[in-house]
Amino acid sequence: MLNDKVALITGGSRGIGRAITLEMARQGAAVAIIYSDGVDAAEETARSAGECGNLAVAFKCDVSDFAAVKAAVGAVLERFGTIDILVNNAGVTADGLILTMNEAAFDKVIDINLKGAFNMTRHVTPVFVKKHSGRIINISSIAGLVGNPGQVNYAASKAGVIGLTKSVAKELASRNICCNAIAPGFIETGMIDGIESPLLDMIPLGRVGLPEEVASLAAFLASDEAAYITGEVIRIDGGLAI
Ligand code: NDP
Repeated sequence: MLNDKVALITGGSRGIGRAITLEMARQGAAVAIIYSDGVDAAEETARSAGECGNLAVAFKCDVSDFAAVKAAVGAVLERFGTIDILVNNAGVTADGLILTMNEAAFDKVIDINLKGAFNMTRHVTPVFVKKHSGRIINISSIAGLVGNPGQVNYAASKAGVIGLTKSVAKELASRNICCNAIAPGFIETGMIDGIESPLLDMIPLGRVGLPEEVASLAAFLASDEAAYITGEVIRIDGGLAI
Protein backbone atom coordinates (compact mmCIF):
# COMPACT_ATOMS: atom_id res chain seq x y z
CA MET A 1 0.00 0.00 0.00
CA LEU A 2 1.06 3.59 -0.59
CA ASN A 3 -0.73 5.37 2.25
CA ASP A 4 0.66 8.84 3.09
CA LYS A 5 2.83 8.87 -0.06
CA VAL A 6 2.81 11.56 -2.72
CA ALA A 7 3.30 10.28 -6.27
CA LEU A 8 4.19 12.49 -9.23
CA ILE A 9 3.33 10.80 -12.54
CA THR A 10 4.28 12.33 -15.88
CA GLY A 11 1.87 11.58 -18.71
CA GLY A 12 -0.55 10.57 -15.97
CA SER A 13 -3.61 11.69 -17.92
CA ARG A 14 -3.93 8.87 -20.44
CA GLY A 15 -2.94 5.28 -21.19
CA ILE A 16 -0.38 3.61 -18.94
CA GLY A 17 0.16 6.80 -16.90
CA ARG A 18 -3.55 7.05 -16.17
CA ALA A 19 -3.63 3.45 -14.96
CA ILE A 20 -0.60 4.10 -12.73
CA THR A 21 -2.25 7.23 -11.34
CA LEU A 22 -5.48 5.39 -10.53
CA GLU A 23 -3.69 2.36 -9.02
CA MET A 24 -1.45 4.50 -6.81
CA ALA A 25 -4.47 6.55 -5.70
CA ARG A 26 -6.36 3.31 -4.98
CA GLN A 27 -3.44 2.19 -2.82
CA GLY A 28 -3.69 5.40 -0.75
CA ALA A 29 -1.29 7.83 -2.42
CA ALA A 30 -1.98 11.47 -3.20
CA VAL A 31 -1.26 11.95 -6.90
CA ALA A 32 0.08 14.80 -9.01
CA ILE A 33 -0.30 14.35 -12.77
CA ILE A 34 1.81 16.07 -15.41
CA TYR A 35 0.27 16.41 -18.89
CA SER A 36 1.14 18.49 -21.94
CA ASP A 37 -1.95 19.22 -24.08
CA GLY A 38 -4.95 17.11 -23.16
CA VAL A 39 -6.50 19.12 -20.36
CA ASP A 40 -9.85 17.28 -20.44
CA ALA A 41 -8.26 13.85 -20.03
CA ALA A 42 -5.97 15.18 -17.30
CA GLU A 43 -8.84 16.75 -15.33
CA GLU A 44 -10.95 13.61 -15.72
CA THR A 45 -8.15 11.36 -14.47
CA ALA A 46 -7.47 13.69 -11.52
CA ARG A 47 -11.19 13.66 -10.69
CA SER A 48 -11.34 9.84 -10.81
CA ALA A 49 -8.18 9.50 -8.70
CA GLY A 50 -9.57 11.99 -6.19
CA GLU A 51 -12.56 9.72 -5.64
CA CYS A 52 -10.18 7.43 -3.72
CA GLY A 53 -10.10 10.10 -1.01
CA ASN A 54 -6.74 11.83 -1.37
CA LEU A 55 -5.53 14.94 -3.14
CA ALA A 56 -5.24 14.52 -6.93
CA VAL A 57 -4.25 17.47 -9.12
CA ALA A 58 -3.22 17.84 -12.77
CA PHE A 59 -0.39 20.21 -13.77
CA LYS A 60 0.29 21.29 -17.36
CA CYS A 61 3.99 21.06 -18.25
CA ASP A 62 6.10 20.01 -21.21
CA VAL A 63 8.61 17.60 -19.67
CA SER A 64 11.18 18.42 -22.36
CA ASP A 65 11.44 22.02 -21.06
CA PHE A 66 14.00 22.18 -18.21
CA ALA A 67 12.76 25.50 -16.78
CA ALA A 68 9.09 24.53 -17.06
CA VAL A 69 9.77 21.26 -15.21
CA LYS A 70 11.51 23.17 -12.42
CA ALA A 71 8.46 25.42 -12.08
CA ALA A 72 6.03 22.48 -12.19
CA VAL A 73 7.92 20.56 -9.50
CA GLY A 74 7.83 23.73 -7.40
CA ALA A 75 4.08 23.99 -7.91
CA VAL A 76 3.61 20.33 -6.91
CA LEU A 77 5.67 20.83 -3.75
CA GLU A 78 3.67 23.94 -2.87
CA ARG A 79 0.39 22.03 -3.23
CA PHE A 80 1.37 18.62 -1.81
CA GLY A 81 4.18 19.53 0.62
CA THR A 82 6.50 16.78 -0.59
CA ILE A 83 7.09 14.07 -3.22
CA ASP A 84 7.86 10.41 -2.42
CA ILE A 85 7.48 8.68 -5.78
CA LEU A 86 8.40 9.91 -9.26
CA VAL A 87 7.11 8.03 -12.29
CA ASN A 88 8.72 9.13 -15.57
CA ASN A 89 6.08 7.83 -17.95
CA ALA A 90 5.43 10.64 -20.48
CA GLY A 91 6.48 9.48 -23.91
CA VAL A 92 5.82 9.84 -27.63
CA THR A 93 6.70 8.15 -30.91
CA ALA A 94 7.56 9.66 -34.30
CA ASP A 95 8.40 6.57 -36.32
CA GLY A 96 10.39 6.39 -39.52
CA LEU A 97 13.18 4.44 -41.12
CA ILE A 98 16.75 5.61 -40.63
CA LEU A 99 17.07 6.36 -44.36
CA THR A 100 14.27 8.91 -44.22
CA MET A 101 13.89 10.10 -40.61
CA ASN A 102 14.34 13.84 -40.31
CA GLU A 103 16.15 15.69 -37.54
CA ALA A 104 12.95 17.07 -36.00
CA ALA A 105 11.50 13.58 -35.48
CA PHE A 106 14.70 12.39 -33.83
CA ASP A 107 15.03 15.44 -31.57
CA LYS A 108 11.37 15.43 -30.50
CA VAL A 109 11.42 11.85 -29.28
CA ILE A 110 14.78 12.18 -27.51
CA ASP A 111 13.72 15.49 -25.92
CA ILE A 112 10.45 14.18 -24.48
CA ASN A 113 11.31 10.57 -23.67
CA LEU A 114 14.92 10.88 -22.49
CA LYS A 115 15.58 14.52 -21.62
CA GLY A 116 12.12 14.66 -20.03
CA ALA A 117 13.11 11.87 -17.64
CA PHE A 118 16.36 13.70 -16.90
CA ASN A 119 14.57 17.02 -16.31
CA MET A 120 12.08 15.51 -13.88
CA THR A 121 14.69 13.42 -12.05
CA ARG A 122 17.04 16.42 -11.81
CA HIS A 123 14.39 18.59 -10.15
CA VAL A 124 12.78 15.98 -7.90
CA THR A 125 15.85 14.18 -6.52
CA PRO A 126 16.96 17.09 -4.28
CA VAL A 127 13.70 16.52 -2.38
CA PHE A 128 14.47 12.77 -2.09
CA VAL A 129 18.06 13.40 -0.96
CA LYS A 130 16.86 15.73 1.78
CA LYS A 131 14.33 13.13 3.04
CA HIS A 132 16.77 10.26 2.65
CA SER A 133 14.12 8.29 0.76
CA GLY A 134 12.45 8.17 -2.61
CA ARG A 135 11.44 5.95 -5.51
CA ILE A 136 11.95 6.64 -9.19
CA ILE A 137 10.20 4.46 -11.75
CA ASN A 138 11.09 5.05 -15.38
CA ILE A 139 8.93 3.68 -18.16
CA SER A 140 11.28 2.42 -20.84
CA SER A 141 10.29 -0.12 -23.52
CA ILE A 142 11.46 -3.45 -24.91
CA ALA A 143 12.45 -1.35 -27.95
CA GLY A 144 15.21 0.04 -25.72
CA LEU A 145 16.42 -3.49 -25.01
CA VAL A 146 16.22 -5.16 -28.40
CA GLY A 147 15.66 -2.29 -30.89
CA ASN A 148 12.84 -2.02 -33.42
CA PRO A 149 12.95 -1.23 -37.14
CA GLY A 150 11.35 2.15 -37.83
CA GLN A 151 12.00 3.37 -34.31
CA VAL A 152 15.67 4.37 -34.09
CA ASN A 153 14.71 7.56 -32.25
CA TYR A 154 12.32 5.83 -29.87
CA ALA A 155 14.58 2.83 -29.19
CA ALA A 156 17.55 5.16 -28.58
CA SER A 157 15.49 7.26 -26.15
CA LYS A 158 14.32 4.16 -24.27
CA ALA A 159 17.83 2.64 -24.15
CA GLY A 160 18.97 6.01 -22.82
CA VAL A 161 16.34 5.81 -20.10
CA ILE A 162 17.83 2.46 -19.04
CA GLY A 163 21.32 3.99 -18.79
CA LEU A 164 19.89 6.90 -16.82
CA THR A 165 18.08 4.48 -14.51
CA LYS A 166 21.17 2.44 -13.70
CA SER A 167 23.36 5.51 -13.17
CA VAL A 168 20.85 7.25 -10.90
CA ALA A 169 20.43 3.98 -8.98
CA LYS A 170 24.18 3.81 -8.36
CA GLU A 171 24.51 7.52 -7.51
CA LEU A 172 21.65 7.68 -5.06
CA ALA A 173 21.55 4.25 -3.41
CA SER A 174 23.51 5.60 -0.45
CA ARG A 175 20.64 8.08 0.12
CA ASN A 176 18.07 5.29 0.27
CA ILE A 177 16.66 6.21 -3.15
CA CYS A 178 15.72 3.36 -5.48
CA CYS A 179 15.49 3.84 -9.25
CA ASN A 180 14.15 1.13 -11.56
CA ALA A 181 12.86 0.85 -15.11
CA ILE A 182 9.88 -0.97 -16.54
CA ALA A 183 10.17 -2.17 -20.15
CA PRO A 184 6.69 -2.84 -21.55
CA GLY A 185 5.99 -4.65 -24.80
CA PHE A 186 2.73 -3.90 -26.62
CA ILE A 187 0.25 -2.35 -24.19
CA GLU A 188 -3.31 -1.45 -25.20
CA THR A 189 -3.27 2.39 -25.30
CA GLY A 190 -3.65 5.17 -27.86
CA MET A 191 0.06 4.79 -28.63
CA ILE A 192 -0.47 1.45 -30.39
CA ASP A 193 -3.93 2.19 -31.85
CA GLY A 194 -4.08 0.97 -35.43
CA ILE A 195 -0.58 -0.48 -35.30
CA GLU A 196 0.03 -3.41 -37.63
CA SER A 197 3.22 -5.13 -36.62
CA PRO A 198 4.24 -8.72 -37.34
CA LEU A 199 5.53 -8.67 -33.76
CA LEU A 200 1.94 -8.79 -32.47
CA ASP A 201 1.63 -12.39 -33.73
CA MET A 202 4.87 -13.32 -32.00
CA ILE A 203 3.81 -12.57 -28.41
CA PRO A 204 4.17 -15.89 -26.54
CA LEU A 205 1.23 -15.14 -24.24
CA GLY A 206 -0.88 -14.46 -27.34
CA ARG A 207 -2.24 -11.01 -26.47
CA VAL A 208 -1.25 -7.40 -25.87
CA GLY A 209 -0.88 -6.19 -22.28
CA LEU A 210 -3.22 -3.96 -20.31
CA PRO A 211 -2.26 -0.59 -18.80
CA GLU A 212 -3.48 -1.92 -15.44
CA GLU A 213 -0.90 -4.72 -15.59
CA VAL A 214 1.90 -2.18 -15.95
CA ALA A 215 0.32 -0.09 -13.18
CA SER A 216 0.43 -3.01 -10.71
CA LEU A 217 4.14 -3.42 -11.36
CA ALA A 218 4.80 0.31 -10.94
CA ALA A 219 2.87 0.36 -7.66
CA PHE A 220 4.87 -2.64 -6.44
CA LEU A 221 8.16 -0.89 -7.26
CA ALA A 222 6.92 2.12 -5.27
CA SER A 223 5.95 0.01 -2.25
CA ASP A 224 7.87 -0.88 0.93
CA GLU A 225 8.03 -4.47 -0.31
CA ALA A 226 10.34 -3.38 -3.15
CA ALA A 227 12.81 -1.54 -0.89
CA TYR A 228 15.75 -3.80 -1.87
CA ILE A 229 15.30 -3.51 -5.65
CA THR A 230 17.27 -0.83 -7.50
CA GLY A 231 18.86 -0.41 -10.93
CA GLU A 232 16.63 -3.16 -12.31
CA VAL A 233 14.88 -3.27 -15.69
CA ILE A 234 11.72 -5.37 -15.63
CA ARG A 235 10.14 -6.50 -18.91
CA ILE A 236 6.35 -6.75 -19.02
CA ASP A 237 5.75 -7.96 -22.54
CA GLY A 238 3.99 -11.33 -22.54
CA GLY A 239 7.35 -12.92 -23.28
CA LEU A 240 7.96 -11.02 -26.55
CA ALA A 241 11.60 -10.15 -25.83
CA ILE A 242 12.64 -13.51 -24.36
P1 NDP B 1 -0.18 7.59 -24.47
O1 NDP B 1 0.08 8.19 -25.82
O2 NDP B 1 -1.45 6.88 -24.24
O3 NDP B 1 -0.04 8.76 -23.36
C1 NDP B 1 1.08 9.59 -23.37
C2 NDP B 1 1.05 10.50 -22.16
O4 NDP B 1 2.25 11.31 -22.16
C3 NDP B 1 -0.11 11.46 -22.15
O5 NDP B 1 -0.55 11.66 -20.83
C4 NDP B 1 0.50 12.75 -22.70
O6 NDP B 1 -0.18 13.91 -22.24
C5 NDP B 1 1.88 12.69 -22.08
N1 NDP B 1 2.87 13.51 -22.78
C6 NDP B 1 3.24 13.41 -24.08
N2 NDP B 1 4.17 14.35 -24.37
C7 NDP B 1 4.38 15.04 -23.22
C8 NDP B 1 5.21 16.14 -22.88
N3 NDP B 1 6.03 16.72 -23.78
N4 NDP B 1 5.17 16.62 -21.61
C9 NDP B 1 4.34 16.05 -20.69
N5 NDP B 1 3.53 15.01 -20.95
C10 NDP B 1 3.54 14.52 -22.21
O7 NDP B 1 1.08 6.68 -24.18
P2 NDP B 1 1.18 5.26 -23.43
O8 NDP B 1 0.37 5.28 -22.21
O9 NDP B 1 1.00 4.19 -24.42
O10 NDP B 1 2.74 5.25 -23.05
C11 NDP B 1 3.20 5.66 -21.77
C12 NDP B 1 4.68 5.34 -21.68
O11 NDP B 1 4.87 3.93 -21.88
C13 NDP B 1 5.52 6.03 -22.75
O12 NDP B 1 6.76 6.41 -22.23
C14 NDP B 1 5.71 4.95 -23.80
O13 NDP B 1 6.86 5.15 -24.56
C15 NDP B 1 5.80 3.73 -22.90
N6 NDP B 1 5.50 2.47 -23.60
C16 NDP B 1 4.27 2.25 -24.15
C17 NDP B 1 3.99 1.06 -24.81
C18 NDP B 1 2.67 0.75 -25.41
O14 NDP B 1 2.55 -0.29 -26.06
N7 NDP B 1 1.64 1.57 -25.20
C19 NDP B 1 5.05 0.05 -24.95
C20 NDP B 1 6.30 0.37 -24.32
C21 NDP B 1 6.51 1.55 -23.68
P3 NDP B 1 -1.05 14.82 -23.32
O15 NDP B 1 -2.20 13.96 -23.75
O16 NDP B 1 -1.45 16.00 -22.51
O17 NDP B 1 -0.11 15.13 -24.45
